[in-house]
Amino acid sequence: MRFEPSTSTFGVLERIHAIWLLATCLLATLFESFFAPLTRKRRGLRAFQRSYALDRLPPLTPEERRTLPTLSGCIACGLCDLGEGLRVARSSGVYAGTMDLMLASSRSMPDFDAAMRSFATVPEARLAELERRCPARIPMQKVAAFVRAKGLLEEEEVRASQGAIATKAPRARGRRANAERRGN
Ligand code: SF4
Repeated sequence: MRFEPSTSTFGVLERIHAIWLLATCLLATLFESFFAPLTRKRRGLRAFQRSYALDRLPPLTPEERRTLPTLSGCIACGLCDLGEGLRVARSSGVYAGTMDLMLASSRSMPDFDAAMRSFATVPEARLAELERRCPARIPMQKVAAFVRAKGLLEEEEVRASQGAIATKAPRARGRRANAERRGN
């Protein structure tokens, strides 16, 4: 009599295979973590943050996470753009109006470098004035402060990350050159 594996047998085998894969990955991760100080592999929160630095995605504190929804209620009425025409024209494309800052530029963290330059063209006193005019009560000065703080942090992280890459590159080139010499 020939043995015909049933669908349920395949199901069980697939499950065993999946468990085996997960278990080996877990063991490999634990092993790597344990020997990380010896192998000098990057581990931990700092390394995690560094790996996102070039994407310009700095971490948020719990307090910032709670504040974020209060910064993004712009209803696009355009009232804060009234009287900003001259500043927009003088900025040579850096500043597209306050509504743009509140509605778009300040919502995407990877673009905070551009938003910072845009905010720099609007004096704090003017932001306070526009804030009073806003029907949605957007805390414009708070938005500007948040963008500046995160934008500066991003720049710092990007510089640190690029520095780390630049330091590693000559070492890697050196290792390659040594390997080539040994091969000759
Ligand atoms: S006045 Fe307030 S709600 Fe209107 S566009 Fe400006 S930020 Fe948005």
